[in-house]
Amino acid sequence: MGRTRIGRRVVPNHPDVAQRARDARGEWFLAAVYPSFASGRSVAARIPRADLMPAYAPAGDFEAYEARHDAGTAVWVRYIAGLPKPAPRPSTMTYRVCDRGNGPGYTGLRIVMVTVAPECPVCGGPRGEGTSYRFHEDGDWFVVDRWTNPCGHLDEYRTVLAEYRHWAQILEKAERKAAERSAEAPDAGEFTAEVALLKAAASLVPGLQARQGAQLLGMQGQDEAARRIGEELATRSYRMSARQATQFLTELAAARAACHTCDDGRINYRSRDGEFVSLRCPRCRRDVIPVA
Ligand SMILES: [Zn+2]
Ligand SMILES: [Zn+2]
Repeated sequence: MGRTRIGRRVVPNHPDVAQRARDARGEWFLAAVYPSFASGRSVAARIPRADLMPAYAPAGDFEAYEARHDAGTAVWVRYIAGLPKPAPRPSTMTYRVCDRGNGPGYTGLRIVMVTVAPECPVCGGPRGEGTSYRFHEDGDWFVVDRWTNPCGHLDEYRTVLAEYRHWAQILEKAERKAAERSAEAPDAGEFTAEVALLKAAASLVPGLQARQGAQLLGMQGQDEAARRIGEELATRSYRMSARQATQFLTELAAARAACHTCDDGRINYRSRDGEFVSLRCPRCRRDVIPVA
């Protein structure tokens, strides 16, 4: 993934980055690292619109997001012009990792399924996909995931577990809080429980982002809500707070309840040449496999 100078400031050379991204459609490139979060966020917001960023013109050809980087705020970009659209950025990654305990003595080995952020904690680049790795230890066979981050930074099981436990604690507190307040939970149709959880989490973590909210929902197994937020994030250039996500889920539940034009998220019809076509209902936004 490109020549990125990690650890030092990456001096923006947007024409060069844009060219490399055009040559590798769908792949994320580190465009720049800004000392301030505000600058990074502003640049990431302007790139998709090519607003004062002529290297990324015309508007709509690029996606961008800002993320924490060891030297400040990184801006990552990818070229998305043309069809089919690349899959939206995942809101979480799930891996099976080895847990050998935190204590000094050897306590044996456990395999833990962790759901963590989709970005490298060092540079904000996308994390790699896990592949199964089977190994033998103490007379037993185990399967874990191994992955390589395209940025080249190594994710250690220890730090991934710590990240997971940090969010698992927040999830536990949010679940308790949501349960205490269940009587006053606003009606969000099929997403009432998810909205209550996000509201509780947002009150515990000031400035909670929608992406982090989706991560909590994913950890809870609320994959449908987490996926829909992930999708909406892509259309909003990856900027949405957890509170805005509660609004979005409430509106989506209402739109689904009111939709009478589709059959459980599918719009089926017979085209002029006699073929049966099944499309995704744009109002309900359920995952459907189009029947060709
Ligand atoms: Zn990295
Ligand atoms: Zn519908």
